[in-house]
Parts: sequence; C-alpha cells; structure tokens
Amino acid sequence: MPIISSHLSLLFRHVASYLRNLAAPIIQQLPFFLLYVVWTSKAPLFSLLYAATHALDFSVLEVSEGIVFNSFKAYLICTLFCLVKHRWIKVVGYVVFFALALIYMFLGSTFRMDFSPMLLTLLAETNARESAEFVSTFLLSTTTLRVMAEWACIVAVAMGAEWLYPNLRKNIGRRVQMVIGGVALLIIACGCTDSKVYVSLFRTQSTKELSLWDLDYADLTSDSLSRIIMSARGIYLKGEEMREAVNHTLQIKCDAQLEMPADSLCVVFVIGESYIKYHSSLYGYPLPTAPRMKEEQQRGNLVAFTNVCAPYNNTTSVIRNLLSCNSLSHGESWNEKPYFPAVMRQAGYNVLFWDNQRDMCTNAAFAFALNAYLYHPEIRKYYSQTNKDCYDYDGPLIDDFFSNANLASKHSFVILHLVGQHVLAGERFPHTREFETFHTKDVPNQASYLNQEKRQFIADYDNATRYNDYLMGRLFDYFRQKNAVIIYLSDHGEEIYDYQDQMGRVKGELTPQRVKYQYDVPFIVWTSDRYRNSHSTLISDLEHTKDRPLMTDNAYQLIFRLAGVRSYYYHPERDISSPAYRPSKRIIEDMADYDHIRWRID
Ligand SMILES: [Zn+2]
Repeated sequence: MPIISSHLSLLFRHVASYLRNLAAPIIQQLPFFLLYVVWTSKAPLFSLLYAATHALDFSVLEVSEGIVFNSFKAYLICTLFCLVKHRWIKVVGYVVFFALALIYMFLGSTFRMDFSPMLLTLLAETNARESAEFVSTFLLSTTTLRVMAEWACIVAVAMGAEWLYPNLRKNIGRRVQMVIGGVALLIIACGCTDSKVYVSLFRTQSTKELSLWDLDYADLTSDSLSRIIMSARGIYLKGEEMREAVNHTLQIKCDAQLEMPADSLCVVFVIGESYIKYHSSLYGYPLPTAPRMKEEQQRGNLVAFTNVCAPYNNTTSVIRNLLSCNSLSHGESWNEKPYFPAVMRQAGYNVLFWDNQRDMCTNAAFAFALNAYLYHPEIRKYYSQTNKDCYDYDGPLIDDFFSNANLASKHSFVILHLVGQHVLAGERFPHTREFETFHTKDVPNQASYLNQEKRQFIADYDNATRYNDYLMGRLFDYFRQKNAVIIYLSDHGEEIYDYQDQMGRVKGELTPQRVKYQYDVPFIVWTSDRYRNSHSTLISDLEHTKDRPLMTDNAYQLIFRLAGVRSYYYHPERDISSPAYRPSKRIIEDMADYDHIRWRID
C-alpha cells in the first residue's frame, strides 16, 4: 500500500508540476492575456451577455469556441513573451496590439468596416487628392476624437494593470496555478484543433472561396491578426485572378465582326460614379437635377431603364465585371472571360479610354488594384488612345476629350470614366454661380436628424448630380449630328442622409433601403437621330424593354447589339433589349438575392 501511495503521490506531483508549467505563460503575463482575450472576443462576449439577459435561444457552444480560440492565440503570444526573456518583445507586442486596436476602432466607428482585402484595395486605389479629403473628412471628426479617448482609456487600464500586477502575482497559490494549468490544457487542445482553419484559408483558390471562408469561420477569426492574414491572401488571389483575366483576353476568340461595316458609328460608354438614382429628376427626384437628360427623353432620343442594379457597391468590383464578357448570374467570374473592349477592338472599333480616376502614379506593389488591370501592358494594347491628364472635375476631362480624341476612324468605341459624385460631392463641381444651383433651403429631405451642415452636403450632392447632367448634355450636343449612341450608367449608388443619419457607403446588413440607395443605378441609352433612323427595330425594342430587370455586369451585351457587333461572346438571352432576353437571378456581393431583399417589406 505505501508503495502505491508513494507512486500516486509521485504521479500527482508530476501532474501538478506539469499543470503549473502550463499555467506559467498565463500567470506571468496575466494582464496581456486577459486584455487580448477580452478585446478580441468583444463581439462573442457581448452576444453571450445579450443572450443571457434576454433569454434567447443561442448557440453558446459556437460562440464559446471563438473565445477559446482567441485564448489560444493569447496563450501563444504570452508563451513567446516568456521564452524571449528580453523586455523589448513585450513592448513590441503591446505596440502592435494597441496600433491594431486603434485602427480597428477607427474603421469600426467611422466606416463600420474591419480589416479586409477590400479595405486594403481601397487604400491602394486612393490617390493623394482623395487622401487629403479623407483626412479632412474623417480624421478630424468628433467620432475620431471619441475613438482616441476610448483608446487612451484602454491603454491606461492596460498599463495600470501591468504596474500593479507584479505585487498581486505573489498571492496566486499552487492550487489556483493548477486550475489555470488545467484551463490552459483545454485551451491548447481546442486551439490546436481549430488551427486547421488557417490551413483551409491557404487552400482557397479564388476571392469567392475566400468570401465563403470568411463567412464560415467568422467566429474563429475575428481578431485583427487573422483579418490581416485573410486580407493578404485576398490580395494574392486578386493578383492571380488578374493574371487569369489577362490570359483569357489574350486567348480571345477571333470571330467578332460588324453587322454593317460600311456605316460609320461612334459608341460612347460613360461610367458614372456614386450616382444615387433617386437623386435624379429623370427618376422622380423633386429637384431638377437632370434637366438635359429629361429634355432628351422628351425629344425621344433617350431611354431611361428603370430596374437596373449594380452587382457590388465598390468601384473596383463593379468595373471589373462591367468590362469583362462574363455574367455573374450564370456563375461566370470576371477573370474567367476576356476584356470586353478587346472584343470591340477585334470587331473593328478603335477603343478610346478617357479615365478621370486613373491613378497617374500606378505602383507595382499595388498590382491588385483596378488600375493595374485596366492599364496592364497587355490590356493597354487594345486602346488606340487614352487621356494624358486627370482633372479635379469631369468638365475639363470632357474638354480634353473633345480637343484630343481622334474619332477619324470609321468605328470608335469610347469609354469615359468619370469622377461623378464620388465622396464629398462638394468637390466635384465648380463653385460658380452657374453650377451652385441648389442651396440648403431647397433640400427636399425633411428628416429630423438633418442640420445645416448635412443639408449642405445634400445640396452639394444635388449640384454635383446636375453638373453631371450638364456634362452629359454637352456629350449629347457633340454627337447629335453623328451616327452615335451613348450609354450611361453609374458604377453603384451612394447614401447621402437619404433614410438614416449617414452618408457614404458604410457597410452593414443589406436592408431594402441600403440596397435601394447603394445598388440601384441610373441606366440610360441615348441615340442620335441618324442612328435612330437606321435602327428602327432596335429603338422600338429599347422602348419596350426599359422596365426589364438587369444587373450591370451584363450591360455589355446590350452594347454589343447597339454597336452591331456579332461575336461568340454575344448572348441574346442576356441582352436586355433582345426578344430572347431571359432575366436571371441578380446576386449582389456574391451572396445576396437582390430582388429578394429590395422588395422585402420590413
Ligand atoms: Zn465607385
């Protein structure tokens, strides 16, 4: 008996010592450990609290898994602190932690965004002018000051805990150490199992798969470090997709030809920016923000399509899909099909690209950004001419186009990419008597949350919309005597205090209102008299099909028909104007059924 007892006691001592060793990283670095776990698990902790106080049926297990996994990551970092005996490692740990926390708080409070591939893409695309506006708009706001104050409190609490803790640590008894060791063992076991999510992250082969991964493992990977690793993977995949898109363009099927090669024709595709359809008088807005378009509509030269939506609410994703021969509803990604202007070129059109959003300092490091695709050396070869300069307003870009574009070729396909009503619409039109049409007193929105400053933002937005209309009027006049067709659409919508106290395209749940303002877009086709006279069937089809549903990734199908291009890539069932058109499901953001959300009544 004494032998067994001494064996048991020896075993117990071994287990106890083992557990105390396991507990050491947590006990030695308790302030950091707790700070990391609580900070990275805010959302699940809040959910648990909410569920408990509201007696909700809630998957506690699922939420707890996220907290345990965050504890595992905290444990690994604390182990590193213990192994590297130098104090600097902990200083670096805290600096990285606080820096990420500050960025996270700022993004969350100002944009309701987190680290994501899209965020990094947006940052890379933002040029110097936009950065200056960004700083003046957001960094100097009261929200940012509040964030800074909250952040300073967290830093103070953490530093206070580090200062007080060495004295408290002495009071932690052996039994408590063993209990903590047991908890650590559990954390390690669960953490090792859950770590496989990172293996599956590196197995994702497309940005679509990555989005699904993000949805599936949201609870396990909500911490900033995981978000950054995920973003880096996203950027890599985007680069791969761009290479794939270029390859598909190089392998284009060379069968495109013109229906009426003897006739000269100019097809102009104007891509607007952040145009809220419901701020256009063409679509019922009470202020006359689109007088020129309405005039053309009344003359019979303009058809306004009424049920068109964008597949995304960000420029890059929309334009990639606008300018590729793909159809999202048919499961085709933009990178799986060739560049649409390349088909136009191959059919005999000269392609001219006047882009007011082109970043003149395209940096190779940001190869994932939109410009890296639009101006890829292989893609550039398809343009016969591009603009040399970008301008503060779109007016000078149109002047530049009128003075420099060579339209002598029989067939010209012009892409005009405007700055439109992009962030801070007050900066998008000249502040002269001619263009300052609307003032705060004219704003039709009577919501109680509006103050003078917000009304001014709305008035500016409406003035920028009217300025856009003025420029469209100049284009109509310029092409009026030619055989010409102009297609105008906006890349996506926007919000300017329309139904809630918010401006911009802040992320959040896709509600009917959000979808209405951010995804519905104006879509018009203008035709000159000469064009109308020779295309009577097509003109009649446009009039009869203007209320059909369309998502803009398939707009190019209509352009093929308007341009008289016959090609392997033309599918009449995807061309809104064709008698063969078959509307398909409109999936926005790769996952949500547009029609289901848009017409839902909350
Ligand atoms: Zn945009």
